[in-house]
Amino acid sequence: MKRALITGIAGQDGSYLAEFLLAKGYDVFGLVLRDEPLRWIDPIKDRLILMEGDLRNQKSLDHAVRQALPDEVYHLGALPFVAISWKQPVLTADVNALGTTRLLEALRSITPHARIYHASTSEMFGLTEEIQTEEGLFHPRNPYSISKCYSHWIAVNYRESYDMYVCCGIMFNHESPRRGENFVTRKIARGVVDIKEGKQDCLYLGNLDVWRDWGYASEYVEVMWLMLQQDAPDDYIISTGEVHTVREFLEEAFCVVGLDAERNGKKGIEEAYIRKDNGQAVVRISPEFFRPVELTVLRGSNSKAKGKLKWEPKTRFRELVRIMVDYEMQNTRPTQSIREVKRR
Ligand code: GDP
Repeated sequence: MKRALITGIAGQDGSYLAEFLLAKGYDVFGLVLRDEPLRWIDPIKDRLILMEGDLRNQKSLDHAVRQALPDEVYHLGALPFVAISWKQPVLTADVNALGTTRLLEALRSITPHARIYHASTSEMFGLTEEIQTEEGLFHPRNPYSISKCYSHWIAVNYRESYDMYVCCGIMFNHESPRRGENFVTRKIARGVVDIKEGKQDCLYLGNLDVWRDWGYASEYVEVMWLMLQQDAPDDYIISTGEVHTVREFLEEAFCVVGLDAERNGKKGIEEAYIRKDNGQAVVRISPEFFRPVELTVLRGSNSKAKGKLKWEPKTRFRELVRIMVDYEMQNTRPTQSIREVKRR
């Protein structure tokens, strides 16, 4: 039986990957932070071997690798939120950049033959409007993506320096009902359902006219595994190749819940979406959700993954919105105070 170690196992990708690897018969070890919420892995918790560990703590990583003695390692643990990275740039670098180095050091000395998947990100491309390939230049625009560039290159460097089997998956945004609540897709899915159910009056958003390539996270984990089953390690872009705006996501979500709302005013900070049945504003724009610098478009070509790994995304944009909104409709929450709603 193969042994896999997953950092970030309790998050969106980690939980889907754990389910996927259990179904393949793996022994699955996972690293969790003390007091980390385990909601998404709760149903499979008894089948996992969870270890407490922190990417800032070398000893805990050494211990985890010694316990797991993994054949495959999936390094998904990171501080993932772009907006927060401006507020915590040092912590972001420590966890994302140095954390990866610490893990690689543990693996190099204890299990140098383990195959390693490193979660790189489309955010590394940053300032560009072109469709990206694996050869694209990076121009990261926030502390998160800068830390991820370091992390990406140190992973590549361990492959080149020590002949370790390390693959980087440069994943474009991938979403699901398990996405963190601060990400715009989940925030919209929750918000429109709460509005429809009368639990919230208004959703506050930032820039609606940015484009993203949104895939469905549950099908992105298979390709992480595929990368580790090849003859040689390599780096791959994983994306749908299709882009949509935040505005399209919002309007599609309105359609799914059956909320009839229309844009009022010129696009930008003054605009609002007004509910047709009662004239109430259901979406307003708030400057606090704008970023110091923005990535207007992130668009990636997945031809290499399609060609070499024979992988292709199946779930398209509209279906993804439906999956996320349906989940929120089936998992209702108590009414929230205005302060709570605005803070998200
Ligand atoms: P990111 O691509 O990793 O930064 O994922 P996010 O889901 O956090 O943001 C995607 C895009 O949505 C970014 O360009 C944001 O500027 C934009 N956006 C607009 N309004 C919001 C908002 O209220 N919250 C977040 N998180 N993003 C927003």
